[in-house]
Amino acid sequence: MKEIVAEEFEREVLESDRVVVDFYSTECPPCEALASKYSELSELYGSDIRFLKIYRQQSRSLAEKLGVKSSPTLLFYQDGEEVGSRLSGAIKRSDIVRNLDAMLTPDRVSRIKSQIRSTTSEFDVIILGGGPGGLTAGLYLGQSKINTVLIDPALPGGNVATTHMVSNYPGFIEPQPGYMLSHNMSEQAKANGTVYRSAVDITSVDLERKEVLIDGNETVRAKKIIIATGTTPNLTGASGEKELKGKGISYCATCDAKYFEGKEVVVIGGGNSAVEESEYITRFASRLTIVHQFDKLTANKQAQEKALKNPKINILFDNEPRSFTRDGDKVITEAENVKTGERTRLVSDGIFIFIGMKPNIDQFRDKLELDRWGYIKTDDEMRTNIDGVYAVGDVISKKYRQITTAVADGTIAAMALAKEMN
Ligand SMILES: Cc1cc2nc3c(=O)[nH]c(=O)nc-3n(C[C@H](O)[C@H](O)[C@H](O)COP(=O)(O)OP(=O)(O)OC[C@H]3O[C@@H](n4cnc5c(N)ncnc54)[C@H](O)[C@@H]3O)c2cc1C
Repeated sequence: MKEIVAEEFEREVLESDRVVVDFYSTECPPCEALASKYSELSELYGSDIRFLKIYRQQSRSLAEKLGVKSSPTLLFYQDGEEVGSRLSGAIKRSDIVRNLDAMLTPDRVSRIKSQIRSTTSEFDVIILGGGPGGLTAGLYLGQSKINTVLIDPALPGGNVATTHMVSNYPGFIEPQPGYMLSHNMSEQAKANGTVYRSAVDITSVDLERKEVLIDGNETVRAKKIIIATGTTPNLTGASGEKELKGKGISYCATCDAKYFEGKEVVVIGGGNSAVEESEYITRFASRLTIVHQFDKLTANKQAQEKALKNPKINILFDNEPRSFTRDGDKVITEAENVKTGERTRLVSDGIFIFIGMKPNIDQFRDKLELDRWGYIKTDDEMRTNIDGVYAVGDVISKKYRQITTAVADGTIAAMALAKEMN
């Protein structure tokens, strides 16, 4: 692996056979997450492919010329031409390997793969998931001098990292950008000793043996596990939803309704959450349209009655969203009547989607005791039914899911665990 400067790019990159270049920056958590993977892969592939690094801040004009807009960005070159797909942000080892393998013959790839050695790392505690729950547990365990590793398929931060503004986390008078709040939580846990394995592929999780296999070759083993994997909102499947997430589409009324004072809002859904949250949103919004796929609401009777009486709420029954788009300050929902096929264009200031959340437990659900909605049952010290396995945050069975409640769960689990281990 070699560090080069902009002036050497022509010779070192464009005049070489096969090269991968890492444009990195300092004070860049995803760059830190990439560093060990890049170095390990340079050992493996180094005799076939050159591994170079360019400090982006020092080679700004080269980065701009190449269209490198974020750090880290990996570019792959073969015989002077860029090949493969550019990688940036939370770069996974498997994505790098895919690009590297495509530059070599199958025979060479299998020879390289045969050199991969499995490794094992030992810790006291594994935390699965780096949202507020997991990060707080990491902070407390670190302060108790308990050797802790936090594993996340993304970068630490969880749902907070993608939340535009957080105005209800105590200690801050002004609303805080979600990414800053999660960045601070993550740096604090790290400063107190929590080790990270982030942006990794989680190959398998064995809760009973307390073993997690990451990137197919590193077994991480511990005495205890804390599950803090959070939830993922169910998606409608309509086009434009992913693009407008956090930019016009929200999944959290407590968090975002207050930004719609006197404005018009569309809500997708018709169950308890959709109807109860709609009622709450109309404390702020001047008008709200519920788009619901059936001809009746499916929320409980009391919530339905309230919604039907609310003069600010209008309901479009038998409709499903087909697309979400932005038009200047407005967001457009194109809904289709599932019986007649008729399309309706709803123009609003914001869209809320409440069609359920999914706890992230697919990789290890088998032996866990769950509630009827699939959330993990815990006792009041966050223990699950499996010995030595705790669970915290949005993934557990509870009534209110907020940053503060996840942080509280993380605190309780870490303190209970520290007491058990000392
Ligand atoms: C759009 C939006 C806005 C919100 N705004 C607010 C707000 O303003 N105020 C507020 O209090 N709350 C808000 N919330 C709720 C808040 O974000 C959650 O309550 C909180 O983040 C829960 O924290 P957590 O640690 O349980 O999980 P999460 O934040 O969901 O983090 C879970 C982490 O686990 C990782 N993970 C997933 N699967 C695995 C796996 N198999 N193995 C290992 N790791 C895994 C994920 O990558 C993620 O990093 C909002 C939620 C959303 C969706």
